[in-house]
Amino acid sequence: MLFSFSKLPPLRRCLIDHQQSAQDDDSHSPECLLCYIADDLAKLTQGISKPAFHSRFIQNRRDWSDGGFSNNGEQQDANEAFLKIVDTCHEIYSPTIRTLIPSDDRDQNPAVVYETPVWHIVGFIGRDEITCKNCDHKPLPYHSKRNEVQLALPEDENDLHSIGSLLMAQLGEENLGSENNPDICADGCGQANQRTKSIRITRSGEVLVIQLLRFKYNNTKTCAEKLETKVNNDVLLPCFGPSMLPYKLRAVVEHQGLTLNCGHYIAYVRDNNDRWYLCNDSAKPLRYEERDVLKAEAYMLFYERLS
Ligand SMILES: [Zn+2]
Ligand SMILES: [Zn+2]
Repeated sequence: MLFSFSKLPPLRRCLIDHQQSAQDDDSHSPECLLCYIADDLAKLTQGISKPAFHSRFIQNRRDWSDGGFSNNGEQQDANEAFLKIVDTCHEIYSPTIRTLIPSDDRDQNPAVVYETPVWHIVGFIGRDEITCKNCDHKPLPYHSKRNEVQLALPEDENDLHSIGSLLMAQLGEENLGSENNPDICADGCGQANQRTKSIRITRSGEVLVIQLLRFKYNNTKTCAEKLETKVNNDVLLPCFGPSMLPYKLRAVVEHQGLTLNCGHYIAYVRDNNDRWYLCNDSAKPLRYEERDVLKAEAYMLFYERLS
């Protein structure tokens, strides 16, 4: 995960800014996790061809935010770790710059969000719009604010999907309800299964983080198994959202193994000269061909917005 972060310039810049302001502040905690992660990323950026190092940020993970989970000291799923890292950054920033959502959706979602520099980089708002085909009723849209986009995977092993097509499908129109689990047009005509939902992106940051929902819980085996769906990891995403600017792939985290409970993570990262490297724990990063990165079994993908 840190290898991926080290290849995201907006995130690095933001952490360097924090470190510089901390140097001028005598009251700044010497055990600040943001300063630790800034140090880690600086080392990884300089030393991509050198042997790995010991991360002070990871050594202190008991002090991370729980990110909505509750197993801080334990081994974490890569996506859990990502959400905890981001949440930890939010929490450190929030005492000074925590604000209410300054927009018209405050009534819809009264939750306080942390408008932190890190949220400005990765934060993503989707506006869920529901429409009834029968009576045209539209309930008030719901705004979901997240640190990442989660993409569901179709459960087929034959077709080749792509990140771009999965993203567009997610944003497209979806029929709500089924025979067994009907959706009712509650404040409109009262009919079942007449409504559709689409998601419109109203905000995306300089970095777009995507989690592929690759794991499916198997009740018999009581563990989360990996779906074998084939996905091409697009280098460029189709333009979407308010900026309509393209996003380019910067890093991929791959899970190796059959279930979520076991296995190993590796990362593929791209440098500024479009060279790809495979990063595997403390081994020296290896040059890697882009065409092979595109076929990797991605679990998380990090895209950077081009301007
Ligand atoms: Zn600090
Ligand atoms: Zn209706």
